[in-house]
Amino acid sequence: ILKMNDVVKTYIMGEEEQVVLKGIDLLINRGDFLSVLGPSGSGKSTLMNIIGCLDVPTSGTYYLSGERICDLPEADLSHIRNREIGFIFQQFQLLQRLSAQKNVELPLIYAGVPEKERQQRSAHILERVGLADKMKNRPNQLSGGQQQRVAIARALVTEPTILLADEPTGALDQQTGHQIINLFKELNEEGKTIVMITHDADVAKNGSRIVRIVDGNLSEGVYNA
Ligand code: ATP
Ligand code: MG
Repeated sequence: ILKMNDVVKTYIMGEEEQVVLKGIDLLINRGDFLSVLGPSGSGKSTLMNIIGCLDVPTSGTYYLSGERICDLPEADLSHIRNREIGFIFQQFQLLQRLSAQKNVELPLIYAGVPEKERQQRSAHILERVGLADKMKNRPNQLSGGQQQRVAIARALVTEPTILLADEPTGALDQQTGHQIINLFKELNEEGKTIVMITHDADVAKNGSRIVRIVDGNLSEGVYNA
């Protein structure tokens, strides 16, 4: 479902040119749970932005669900992004003035789904992540782990092809982080394709595959930090 060939990403800051990704080849199949491991500044978020169609490669090719992403205008890119990708971030990124359920409904509002169906789908997915009794709570009335569950429900509600998580346990204590990882494992067993970005080798080991960003290149299956 995802294929990258020789993807290069270069940032230009004034006179300085920094090559962050130096020719990434990556194949992700349906049902994979891929961990992307690498130290701070290695280019993990840069890679995530490309996978998630938030940015395009400087050179190389990227195919997602059979579509060539590289040279599309932003309107097409955002269309593919909304259809294919469910994003999860370290800092949850929930809207504080809305209830858990309304937060989960947001992507459905953008997609033009009618209200009744929105309510049904958001309630159903919040139940799935274990928050049936917290749907009316606002984010500040939820624990960190519960907030991340809301964010996961929001990412899932549109039934994206790929769940893409950037340091999803980074803001959580170890035990809560573990619960979130277990939820990912369950979702993966149900067939969801997951890409999880982390700098923590212990967290990365929960994936079914690990790739490491080393000096702008990807190496597969290397565990040692
Ligand atoms: P962290 O673990 O700290 O989140 P990371 O692996 O996600 O790090 P990136 O955010 O991908 O790293 O950044 C990789 C390099 O690219 C860094 O040196 C950063 O300064 C540079 N960089 C990232 N985004 C930009 C940008 N928009 N413009 C210029 N340089 C950038
Ligand atoms: Mg990052």
